[in-house]
Amino acid sequence: MKVLLHDCCAPCGAHVAEELKKDGYDVTVYFYNPNIFPAEEYQLRLNEMKRYCEKNKIPLIVGNYNHDEWLSAVAGFENEKEGGARCEKCFMHRLGETAQKAMEEGFEYFATTLSVSPHKPVEVINRIGNELGEFYNVKFIDTVWRKNEGYKKACELSRKNDFHRQNYCGCEFSVN
Ligand code: SF4
Repeated sequence: MKVLLHDCCAPCGAHVAEELKKDGYDVTVYFYNPNIFPAEEYQLRLNEMKRYCEKNKIPLIVGNYNHDEWLSAVAGFENEKEGGARCEKCFMHRLGETAQKAMEEGFEYFATTLSVSPHKPVEVINRIGNELGEFYNVKFIDTVWRKNEGYKKACELSRKNDFHRQNYCGCEFSVN
């Protein structure tokens, strides 16, 4: 059961990768996050995920970082509040790329860490994931990862691994 796991950051990625492995999946992490701003923060989050994957022998694929292209994908929605229409465009952009990659690389499944966060609308994430799964003919795992104290477990893993923990979602519009 090969799954391509879209990962947004190391704390969420470590939690979901461990849960999927417990369920018997063969996990490859896909770090595709052109939403992250600035580039220094992107590199910091990527480095933390690389460190975790190397330590735990999990294959990691790093996608392109093209923030201008991502800005075009959310154009017109910049001022929406977090969890609203801008985020929906952002999910479509990142999950669309992940589903396509999963199809091209022969994965049976794809998944995302996005539902770990208590600030994200899971019904929107899962609707988009399932629609993309049908389009690309790759099954989407629509587990709500923040359930069963998932967010708390991600925080604990973060402390245990001494991960960098950001205080904003990722884009410039979400900086507090
Ligand atoms: S707040 Fe987060 S999910 Fe929403 S658009 Fe920005 S980076 Fe994407």
